[in-house]
Amino acid sequence: MEKKKEELLAQIEHVVQVCRNCRLWRAATHAVPGEGSPNATVMFIGEGPGYHEDKLGRPFVGRAGAFLDRLLSRNGIRRADVFITNVVKHRPPDNRAPMKDETRACLPFLMQQIKVINPKVIVPLGRSALEVFLKDKGISEVHGQAFRVGNRIIFPLYHPAAALRSPSVARILEQEFRDLPRIIRGELVPVEVEIQNKDKNQMKLI
Ligand code: URA
Repeated sequence: MEKKKEELLAQIEHVVQVCRNCRLWRAATHAVPGEGSPNATVMFIGEGPGYHEDKLGRPFVGRAGAFLDRLLSRNGIRRADVFITNVVKHRPPDNRAPMKDETRACLPFLMQQIKVINPKVIVPLGRSALEVFLKDKGISEVHGQAFRVGNRIIFPLYHPAAALRSPSVARILEQEFRDLPRIIRGELVPVEVEIQNKDKNQMKLI
C-alpha cells in the first residue's frame, strides 16, 4: 500500500534529526525539519533556523516568525494549513547565511518535502531560498512577482527578518503578501519561466 504523506514526512524528519552530512549539526541544539500540513497548498521556505528555532526545533518561532504569523492571519491564512521549512535544517552559527556546501548537503530533504507535500505555491523568503528555485535572479529584482516553474508557482518575498530591520521592506512585504490569497485561488497569472537545467533531478521535483 502507498505510504501516507504523514508517514513520508515523518521519515524525512527522522533522517534530518540524525543528519551529519555537513558541519552545521555540531553547533546546533535541535534539528528543525519544518512543520505544517502535509496537504498544504502553500509552502514557505526560509534560510535556516535561528536562535529560538534551534532551541525549540520548530521553524519561524522567533521575532521573524511572529512577523510571518501576523502576515498569515491578516491575510486569512491559518499557519496550520501551510507548511513552513528552511533551506538548511540546522542552525548556521551566529545566524550567518548557509554556505554553498551546506545548502547542497541539505537540499535533498527540501526536495523530498516538496515532492511529498506537492504544494501549488512555493514562497521562498529571502535570497538563500530564492537561489534554490530561480538561480539567476536576485530577491530585490523579483520579490512580489509570481513565476510558473514547471507546474508550480514560485512567489518570492522578502524575508521577514529583513522586514524587522527596515520599515520600508516591512511595508513592501506586507503589501506583496496580500497577493498570496489570489495566487492560491489562481486569480493572478504568473510569469512563465524556463526550468533551469543546472540540476535536472532537483528541478524535476519542483
Ligand atoms: N529565519 C529563517 O530563515 N528561518 C527560521 O526558521 C527563522 C528565522
